[in-house]
Amino acid sequence: MKRETAVPANHQYPSYQGLLPFREAAAKWYRRRFGVSLDPSSEVIALIGSKEGIAHFPLAFVNPGDTVLVPDPGYPVYHIATMFAGGKSHLLPLRRENGFLPDLDAIPRSVLAKAKILFLNYPNNPTSAVADKTFYRKVLGVAEEHDLIVAHDVAYTEIYFDGKRPGSILELPGAKKRCIEFHSLSKTYNMTGWRVGFAVGNAELVAGLGKVKTNVDSGVFQAVQAAGIEALTNGDEASEGIRRVYRERRDLLIPGLRAIGLDPVFPQATFYVWIPVPKGYTSASFCAHLLEKTGIVTTPGSGFGKSGEGYIRIALTQEKVRIREALSRIRKVGF
Ligand SMILES: *Cc1c(COP(=O)(O)O)cnc(C)c1O
Repeated sequence: MKRETAVPANHQYPSYQGLLPFREAAAKWYRRRFGVSLDPSSEVIALIGSKEGIAHFPLAFVNPGDTVLVPDPGYPVYHIATMFAGGKSHLLPLRRENGFLPDLDAIPRSVLAKAKILFLNYPNNPTSAVADKTFYRKVLGVAEEHDLIVAHDVAYTEIYFDGKRPGSILELPGAKKRCIEFHSLSKTYNMTGWRVGFAVGNAELVAGLGKVKTNVDSGVFQAVQAAGIEALTNGDEASEGIRRVYRERRDLLIPGLRAIGLDPVFPQATFYVWIPVPKGYTSASFCAHLLEKTGIVTTPGSGFGKSGEGYIRIALTQEKVRIREALSRIRKVGF
């Protein structure tokens, strides 16, 4: 990045779809990681972080009044972006008894008939759930039957534990007909502030997103793209180190929470811990209790949608010494 900032050519407007070498690096990474082949010139587009791509995507495909299927709890951008496009969100509750996967059979047929896009996000923020091929096969079946676009947010595929590598829906035969995946360098390589990600999949979906983007932004600073190429090409080891740090924190926090009487979902991926609140509390009142009595900041599950009520989320983004301190404060104060 430092070297590339000194190159005058990098200070021009970048190409809106991303430098071809960046798109090639993303395609090669997908091939290495998932065994999925992508055409860098038509099936990959650079993003100013994946949030940007997710937020602009509905503008390309949702007409006013159209329905979009949105997981609840979920990353708030799916619903907000749907609203910006004039669409209506139909919420899909994610419940613990279903492994935090939406029950696709429970969606009314009248809703499916009007639905344009199905948003998914596995590994999942905030529940930390992962999806397997059986679920993705089911998704493709439903999408095929009701002519849905599947927009899969895969920001956390590289934050996994215990050697269980989450897959891409594009690994399934035929998935490229109707799927797009949003990937981010933010979590994988600790590059949140750099603003770089990419979307891959069906060429028409990628082109539609590109068409919106040419009209609202002008691409990613090329020095950042150069750093992105380096990360995607030679960053596997760095990514492994990041996973190790989160795993150590997880393996400290989970037994600690259990020891004080909480029942967290055991995360197989992501850096989130999703915890049902103790009896007598709501999401908000338990967060307030922790904040006021122990000085610990957590996120109320209700902030991710109404099905998030009854949970709080803790992020494994503090060092072990702070996690130990947090556990000891909660133990002292109780709930
Ligand atoms: C962090 C996050 C993103 C966006 O990350 P960017 O920094 O915009 O690439 C997207 N989806 C989910 C679920 C996230 O948690």
